[in-house]
Amino acid sequence: MSQTGPRPRAEVLQIAAYVPGEGNVAGLNRIVKLSANEGAFGPPPGAIAAYGTVAAEIHRYPDGGSVELRRAIGARWGLDPARIVCGTGSDELIQHICHIYGGPLADGSRTEIIMSMHGFTMYQIAGTYAGSRVLKAPERNLTTDVDAILAAVSPATRIVYVANPNNPTGSLLPESEMERLRAGLPPEVLLVLDSAYAEYVTEPGYDAGAKLVDAGDNTVMLRTFSKVFGLGGMRVGWCYGPPAVIDALNRVRGVFNVNIAAQAAAVAALAEPGWVERSVAHNSEWRARLATALTAAGIKVWPSHTNFFLADFATPARAAAADAFLKARGIIVRAMGAYDLPHCLRITVGTAEECTLVADTLTAFMATQHG
Ligand SMILES: *Cc1c(COP(=O)(O)O)cnc(C)c1O
Repeated sequence: MSQTGPRPRAEVLQIAAYVPGEGNVAGLNRIVKLSANEGAFGPPPGAIAAYGTVAAEIHRYPDGGSVELRRAIGARWGLDPARIVCGTGSDELIQHICHIYGGPLADGSRTEIIMSMHGFTMYQIAGTYAGSRVLKAPERNLTTDVDAILAAVSPATRIVYVANPNNPTGSLLPESEMERLRAGLPPEVLLVLDSAYAEYVTEPGYDAGAKLVDAGDNTVMLRTFSKVFGLGGMRVGWCYGPPAVIDALNRVRGVFNVNIAAQAAAVAALAEPGWVERSVAHNSEWRARLATALTAAGIKVWPSHTNFFLADFATPARAAAADAFLKARGIIVRAMGAYDLPHCLRITVGTAEECTLVADTLTAFMATQHG
């Protein structure tokens, strides 16, 4: 590193850069990419058409307020558009929330942000960047533990992040546990419910977060177009929250953060008839089929409420061997070392053909493992 050039703040160099799911394998041209939890069906056809339609308009700045998109989101979920802010993916909003409420204090001490042990890495990256200390509360059975989070709260705590269901574990906390968490947190601590996989949840009684947001002034819900809506490449996410939090986000977000094509594609994705229903039906069916096949092959599968699941190979060596075996055959899944789960691989539920291929390949892999 340069000795004379500009030096980043110390906390920036503590961050391990996010490693996205891989997209290709050298020497292979047919790749099955099941590493980033993208929807199994590609983009909604209406979104592809809308993307093409705006091509002649891309010399224009987008609507900085994402007005039409917020109106469409509000109509879809019965929410007030004035209490929604859109972002360049929910990742942008995670970053701003950390900087708005976290960071160092005037006396040089650091605020604290709490996440669960195997929570989404972006919370750690964004929180550290903001200058907060990020604490990881232990989990129980790869599930967020409300008591462990509450035990980690101190006067320095500013934000608690919970993804429900969680990535990469796929586990879900019941509504009653979310309510208990909110009730047990001091009122000045912001609870961020990240519901990136909400649409995939079929559990009765699940609420993606709007109920808790409406019940007070200290909870927000994050959502994304990157998963079931098939628009990961467009970068669109949104936050529903209390007016004061929305006001703060609108002061600091990128003025034109959601680009013109992304806004058009997202509006069209919401209008696609039957898209979510079909995607979720496919996901529930093939997640179960894949889990059954892997279990029969001798691989432990963690229960999941999302469009991916953890395949547990018991040892890091066997998980690495399985990863290499898949990769050699053009199948890319996600290694979990960065999430402290080196004995697991995270597998996205793809098309029927892709799921069958993964099941057959891992069954063949297990047949090579003796003892
Ligand atoms: C995929 C994902 C997101 C969404 O990120 P975008 O920036 O909207 O693509 C947010 N949180 C979790 C837990 C995720 O898995």
